[in-house]
Amino acid sequence: MANANRGLLMAGNWKMYKTRSEAQAFMAALVVPQQAGLQAMLCPSFTLLETVQGLAKRTPVKVAAQTMAAVEEGAFTGEVSAPQLKELELSAVVLGHSERRQYFNETDGQLAHKVALALQYGLTPILCVGETLAERETGLTDAVVLQQLQAGLEAVDAQQLAALVVAYEPVWAIGTGKVCDAAEANRVCGLLRHAAAAAWGAPAANNLRILYGGSMKPDNAQELLSHEHIDGGLIGGASLQAESYNQLLSLAQQVLATLPTAVA
Ligand code: PEP
Repeated sequence: MANANRGLLMAGNWKMYKTRSEAQAFMAALVVPQQAGLQAMLCPSFTLLETVQGLAKRTPVKVAAQTMAAVEEGAFTGEVSAPQLKELELSAVVLGHSERRQYFNETDGQLAHKVALALQYGLTPILCVGETLAERETGLTDAVVLQQLQAGLEAVDAQQLAALVVAYEPVWAIGTGKVCDAAEANRVCGLLRHAAAAAWGAPAANNLRILYGGSMKPDNAQELLSHEHIDGGLIGGASLQAESYNQLLSLAQQVLATLPTAVA
């Protein structure tokens, strides 16, 4: 069962998709259910951030960037900094997505800097962790995600943990249509929460939002979102069409509506 205090965060990662007119059409078709504890969030490309943020201002939707630089400013052609994102009044930034780790050599060391910088500028870091298929098949899943969590959050204290989001994204499930079994996704999210409790204390860990990402779709979301340690989704493919993203929001609403305690 989802957690009444943490609610559900449904973050749509648009990756390198959509032109401005496509983003505008998506925003026009977006329907966000009124439900306490439900947070909709979209993560468009840099070029779309201002447009989407402008349209989102009239809605409860939050907007996040997909990555950012590890330093505040400097001669780093092509990079975008935390202060530049903050100027757009964004809420969050995705850090350490497996595509960034794999294709752009993003390292745990850089991510620790990025997490600290995001927090400094009032952006919620959404730190992604997850194992590859080879790592899963050789029994390394737990070791890999725990190491990525510890390294990425190296500079974080207990108070900052509540302002943070972790996304468990098994690499083999991203964009493949192979969703992780819900009980197993919940087990790994629970493992991350227990590790957070050991490092920062149980109260801080109980407030930490942990998302699942990897082929979440309308036909599997309800089961995933019903588990104790899964506090929402980081959603790629199924967030690209307003129709399927709307369905995901509606499913999250249904899960929250069944909770015995009202969500604050
Ligand atoms: C992602 O981009 O983080 C993701 C989980 O993608 P998909 O939902 O398409 O697997």
